[in-house]
Amino acid sequence: DIVVVGSLLVEHIFFIDRLPDLGESFPATRYVIGPGGKGANAAIATSRACHNNPDKADTATGEPGVDVKVRMIGAIGDDGEGKYMLKALSDSQVESSGIRVEKEENTGKAFIMVEETDESRDNRLIYTLGANSVISPYDFKTADTLSNAGAPPDLIISQLEVDMKAVERILETAGKANIKVLLNAAPANNILTKLYRNLTHLVVNESEAAILSGFDLADIKSENFEEIAKMFLGYGVENFILTLGKGGAFYANSEGSDLIKAFEVESVDPTGAGDTFVGAYAAEYVRMQKAQEFWDIAKAVKRANAAGALAVTKAGGQTGIPWANEIDDFMAA
Ligand code: ADP
Repeated sequence: DIVVVGSLLVEHIFFIDRLPDLGESFPATRYVIGPGGKGANAAIATSRACHNNPDKADTATGEPGVDVKVRMIGAIGDDGEGKYMLKALSDSQVESSGIRVEKEENTGKAFIMVEETDESRDNRLIYTLGANSVISPYDFKTADTLSNAGAPPDLIISQLEVDMKAVERILETAGKANIKVLLNAAPANNILTKLYRNLTHLVVNESEAAILSGFDLADIKSENFEEIAKMFLGYGVENFILTLGKGGAFYANSEGSDLIKAFEVESVDPTGAGDTFVGAYAAEYVRMQKAQEFWDIAKAVKRANAAGALAVTKAGGQTGIPWANEIDDFMAA
């Protein structure tokens, strides 16, 4: 089983064709509500990558999906938006008994203004973490706080959108209990250097890689991937993954390294590509572990590239996140 620890936010997206002046008010041209937060996105992406789309069972290629349970740990408020998040998770078959309902807090939320004209599309975003901010290091003192009904998970996935000290505690506790961890270091922040050795997987995009490594972004873009990888592998990271948008993804571990090209698609909305990549990669890692297959990182990265490519072809953070059979079909095409 896979446990995802992280943030849950409801996104309220207002589309406008110009910014309101001070004191002015007018209706948005369009309004969309959607589930979000890096934790919830990763949980949904991972769960979908582990299961076939229940609405499209007839198009399944015969593969039964991965059949791994995905469970989320996090916090919401006792409000309609909290219920909205629970529904979004259960629609994607994420198990949510690890999500605390905080009576005194609001569910985290983001207000996004998208200024949309024929020529351009600009985002302005404010958010409040609300209940997400109650997640603390004390929640993860022992390995059973990370376990699913007593059994240690096959993998824990975390991002950095909850308290850093809590994430560091998760890495410490998982490390002591020998539980594998995937860290998607987003939003970028530095973790204690000694904790890198507790990471089975570190997944970063280019700007996160720059902040974590201290390398210039320009240096990273000039394809200095091996050197960055060397630094993180030197810290003790087992598998290092650098996602490169339409450039695909670079991987490195003690066996070798390679750049795996992206699938060519028309990008409509790049949001959520990273979370989707992480979910598909994690699902494939756990599938190989369970099947006692040799760890084929190149194969996992290729599958994650396929999921990421599918994600950018659809508008809206979560609508584009593919299920296992949709990734299969895309890769077979
Ligand atoms: P993030 O969303 O975290 O910034 P990236 O932009 O690097 O992450 O995207 C993650 C992955 O999604 C990439 O490694 C790639 O596999 C896929 N992807 C992203 N953008 C595209 C694109 N335009 N075309 C094809 N694949 C893409």
